[in-house]
Amino acid sequence: MASIETDSYSADLRPKAIRPETRELLISKIEGSDQEFDLTSPPNAGGYGRIRHFRGEQAAPWPLNPLPVLPAANRLGLDAELTNTAQVFQNAACNWRCWYCYVPFSLLSANEARSGWFTADELVAMYEASDERPLVIDCSGGQPDLVPEWVPWMMDALVAAGLSDQVYLWSDDNLSNDYFWRYLTPVQIEQVATYANYGRVACFKGFDETSFAFNTKADESLFGRQFELFEKLLKTGMDLYAYATLTGPNPSEARAGTILFLDRLQQIDERLPLRLVPLRIEVFGVVERRVHAPERVALETQESAIAVWNEEMEKRFTAEDRALPIPLVEWSAR
Ligand code: SF4
Repeated sequence: MASIETDSYSADLRPKAIRPETRELLISKIEGSDQEFDLTSPPNAGGYGRIRHFRGEQAAPWPLNPLPVLPAANRLGLDAELTNTAQVFQNAACNWRCWYCYVPFSLLSANEARSGWFTADELVAMYEASDERPLVIDCSGGQPDLVPEWVPWMMDALVAAGLSDQVYLWSDDNLSNDYFWRYLTPVQIEQVATYANYGRVACFKGFDETSFAFNTKADESLFGRQFELFEKLLKTGMDLYAYATLTGPNPSEARAGTILFLDRLQQIDERLPLRLVPLRIEVFGVVERRVHAPERVALETQESAIAVWNEEMEKRFTAEDRALPIPLVEWSAR
């Protein structure tokens, strides 16, 4: 498969996924999609939302995934049991096509037949009207940062609804573009950076150029851009976390690749690996039909990579550091 021309595809998707004049966003309709079959509870918010239950456990030796449960609990000053569910909305566009994406590709192409237009006020109103009102709202994707206005608009809507102190806002970012700086005003950037009940997770896709390109279908030169974008986001001062997927086509490259990946993360901030959760790719639902022989090898690669990751974390950080709750890990550069 030819690699995705990420920049031109992003530019093509953005105007199909946002209407800045009316502050509307294209949100995926989960009801009636293939994703609906993979959910533990039926879609809500008129079919445009879903409730996600965060369990956190990953098979040994993978670490627990405390995102976004612990950052939300920390900011809201609550027990983690109260923040382990989220109201999720998905923007209907993504510029990459990761083989392990749990979202059907039909919900990533800004297709109006499979989505609807909503303002942030309308999304918050649907959240308020739902029976189950988790304390976390997750702006997921798709790639929310094709439409970076979504986050400050949600903040405005939560403030207007009197919910900004009670609800934690979380968003995902695939580290593919600079739209956050290109389309937000300095005031909006400051708003995102300083809004108390907000956190963002940015996902590194692969441990080297080859694994990145295999995972995303994007050009391998964009592997390095992820680090540049992460560093830029960090400098804004926002509450930032990271995921990494460690799948790749060559198990024999997992050791050297993972060590170098950690080195590059630590060049941004020595303590960044403590704010990063390696995510184990699991095969279920819509992912199953995309898994063939190369993807099965990629699943083996992630098991080699996590063994190296764990060894390296033990070498690079004290047991005390590794036991810190993730929102309490301080950056060395701040
Ligand atoms: S970047 Fe995220 S939303 Fe886009 S295809 Fe990859 S996993 Fe799916």
